[in-house]
Amino acid sequence: MDDDLMSDDLMNDDLLALTHYGEEPEKYLHAVTPPVFLTSLHVYEDFEEYNESWTGEKYAYGRRSNPTAHILEKKMAALEHGRRAAAFASGMAAASSAIMAICEAGSHIICLKNVYGPVKSFINNICVKKLKMTVTYLDGKNIAEIEEAICPETDLIILESPLSFVFSVVDIRAITAIAASHKIKTYIDNTYCTPLFQKPLDMGVDVVMHTISKYIGGHSDIIGGVLVSKDDELMERIITQTREWFGGILGPMEAWLAIRGLRTLDARLKCHQETAMNIAAFLEGHPKVKKVNYTGLASHPQRELIQSQQTGHSGLMSFELNAPPETAVAFINRLRLFGKGCSWGGFESLALTPLYHTGEEELRALGCEDNRGLIRIHCGLEGHQNLIADLESALDHV
Ligand SMILES: *Cc1c(COP(=O)(O)O)cnc(C)c1O
Repeated sequence: MDDDLMSDDLMNDDLLALTHYGEEPEKYLHAVTPPVFLTSLHVYEDFEEYNESWTGEKYAYGRRSNPTAHILEKKMAALEHGRRAAAFASGMAAASSAIMAICEAGSHIICLKNVYGPVKSFINNICVKKLKMTVTYLDGKNIAEIEEAICPETDLIILESPLSFVFSVVDIRAITAIAASHKIKTYIDNTYCTPLFQKPLDMGVDVVMHTISKYIGGHSDIIGGVLVSKDDELMERIITQTREWFGGILGPMEAWLAIRGLRTLDARLKCHQETAMNIAAFLEGHPKVKKVNYTGLASHPQRELIQSQQTGHSGLMSFELNAPPETAVAFINRLRLFGKGCSWGGFESLALTPLYHTGEEELRALGCEDNRGLIRIHCGLEGHQNLIADLESALDHV
């Protein structure tokens, strides 16, 4: 291996970060893949050395750090243009740890109302009910409305872009500028874009979250999450407080699988994107389809904003039929290549009607009162001709 290829100077190249950066083959017998450090403990010759091992990039105990997880963290920090990353046992462990590291009892949180559901459940049931925090949910499109919601207790703004289910985006630079002027931290769930298609830290966001259970793992075989930031003080608090004390570090085997997933992320995402582009165009042109929500479509109402902050689009989209919500359920049940399941980001295509069982009140709160029949699909790697044929035959029955 050419030494230059491994140097830190090249950590800003996405493809080198995915494939080589952060690895030190000379330390593991020149194996081309790093070992799974299945160890809970690192032991030292003398007590002073052991004491020091709890600091910096050394290893003491597996709930604080693990060498395999650390390789993943170095790659994720490089990919997101951050300084440090922390890997967690799930996306939710990462999300809840970020909130707990930034907020305290009595904090006020501003959160986009269409963010990933369990994050809102955590805020409503743990932060508000148990820790007396307050929360304001907004759709994020009106910047003045965000500024008006800020109060002296506001400590955190929680973003996601594109947003789950509806695939609208928010103006990340405008929101982080307002947050910074009030010294409020911003957090974004960047799972949809992956670090390859959107770099929120470069747009002023303080901490980025990724579920590695989705595209980063890429094969529907792991649960994990990661936080990345340029803020050393915040990351130190996340690693030594919320991660170590809640105990949610990623296991070494999952870290190894995530490193393997990263190696092919660029190749897989290009394929998911191309497939989804073809499918979105097919659906948009079909007379039985009312509306397609996909950030890659030229007809997306926020086209300009999308092009100013995203460099690509993944395999996830939603659409509505010109038919009542029950028909949407019958339609997805007719699909043969799309499994009915909730996750996404793996090799396999999936379909759901995620809002079908949502109560009227919650639908109104989400601004989705007319969207009960919304269909979300993940376009896997089965090839767009096969997937379009499957969609076409199910549409024939609508
Ligand atoms: C799946 C998902 C999460 C949660 O990740 P887990 O690893 O399941 O905890 C968070 N955000 C988004 C956008 C997701 O799709």
